[in-house]
Amino acid sequence: QLHVKVLGAGLAGCEAALWLAGQGVQVDLYEQKPVHFSPAHKSEGFAELICSNSLKAERLDSASGLLKEEMRRMGSRLLKAAETARVAAGGALAVDRDAFSAEVTRMVCDCPGITVHREEVTSIDESEPVLVATGPLTEGALADEIGRLTGDERLHFYDAVAPIVTAESLDYDKVFAASRYGRGEADYLNCPFNKAEYEAFYEALASAERAPLHDFDEGAEQAQPDPDAHGKKADTVTVYEGCMPIEIMAARGADTMRYGPLRPVGLTDPRTGHRPWANVQLRAENLERTLYNIVGFQTNLKWGEQKRVFSMIPGLEHAEFVRYGVMHRNTFLDSPRVLTAQLCLKEHPNVFFAGQITGFEGYMESAACGLLAARSIYARLTGRTLPPPPADTMCGALVRHLTTENRNFQPMGANMGILPPLENRPRDKRLRYMAQAERAVASFQRWVEENAPTQESL
Ligand code: FAD
Repeated sequence: QLHVKVLGAGLAGCEAALWLAGQGVQVDLYEQKPVHFSPAHKSEGFAELICSNSLKAERLDSASGLLKEEMRRMGSRLLKAAETARVAAGGALAVDRDAFSAEVTRMVCDCPGITVHREEVTSIDESEPVLVATGPLTEGALADEIGRLTGDERLHFYDAVAPIVTAESLDYDKVFAASRYGRGEADYLNCPFNKAEYEAFYEALASAERAPLHDFDEGAEQAQPDPDAHGKKADTVTVYEGCMPIEIMAARGADTMRYGPLRPVGLTDPRTGHRPWANVQLRAENLERTLYNIVGFQTNLKWGEQKRVFSMIPGLEHAEFVRYGVMHRNTFLDSPRVLTAQLCLKEHPNVFFAGQITGFEGYMESAACGLLAARSIYARLTGRTLPPPPADTMCGALVRHLTTENRNFQPMGANMGILPPLENRPRDKRLRYMAQAERAVASFQRWVEENAPTQESL
């Protein structure tokens, strides 16, 4: 009898356990609730949605819709549970979180192949395949153990993330490529402000509405300024050596940002031939340069406010935000360094990871990652190696994000910007997205068929 331990009965862990059990694998599933709760988890049920109750869009020509279609083709049970708990939400799949969690808990507990252990796991036994799916709030002895296995002393990152926009949505009449003082390649895109534009932007930013911080995020606002920082390691769980939110910097005075991330020195706006009054830099987020992050704009503003205020940056008037800035504790692996495309550690191949802890960001992304890891473990148990899904699929593009060298690695959710461009690119965005989605589904289906689970090689 094949046997696997799964740690954590969240989105990723439940998908993985249910899928593996469906293949006849005996699963031991460990969940710390109700013995121990993370600061964000409140209920005893599995697959708890800790914040929003939206599982995002369903349309195939959207990133989240495409991800769902790929999950269906991998046999997602959580999507089925979501159907039973659905609440009206326009084109999105939103659920009654308690009903959703109750349905997943029932599926898992009724599944004869799964034995549930309600206990906190503090160490990892790598004598046989084990799947770590303990989520972004993994802490304590287990976090230390993961740190030991991956060579990271501390895994508690303070995730102060700047928003990401698509390259194609920028206004290139205003935005120009240049590095400060012309040093090196023109690695950055620059958004130059004149004085009036800057003053209006400053006023809007300083008075914009902030999201409430969770109790476990206290300490964030005392963070030291570091305009170009990303997810710096924290000294402790609550005192973060993070980076200052842009709105806090703005609140210190009208010119503070002009001496920080918005400094214009070393730059000349080609439209005017002069140094701008202030300047925002955009840095490529991926190798294809289809996505850019707004440098130094880690923020805790509400998402609607981010759209409103950051769209005042010259060149970003019509920017499409694929990810908004967030500030919360987030534990994730330095996946490009430690993880293989099979979602196991390079140095400890029996230790697999799934969910947000890998850098697959979001509820459905975490669940999808659980399915990928489960398939990969099953392949290992049956003497095969599962190739990652093709890069033109949403799951494949996310795995590629995890496994591509990246000094500033940050988690990433499904978005159309990470899919490779089409050869014949329709001008209309909807048509383009649909063509990318159809290509992805066909590609994904081939991958599923070519890698169908089999015990033949046993
Ligand atoms: P989780 O769903 O967190 O599951 C991990 C499970 O492991 C939990 O049940 C936990 O109790 C258990 N566990 C942890 N440690 C141990 C241990 N040592 N032993 C045994 N069990 C353990 N994504 C969205 O799409 N929308 C949102 O609104 C959203 N809001 C978020 C808000 C916060 C504060 C955070 C931190 C993340 C948010 N995310 C959101 C990101 C992410 O999608 C969710 O965190 C998602 O739940 C991750 O799924 P997971 O399966 O990886 O982990």
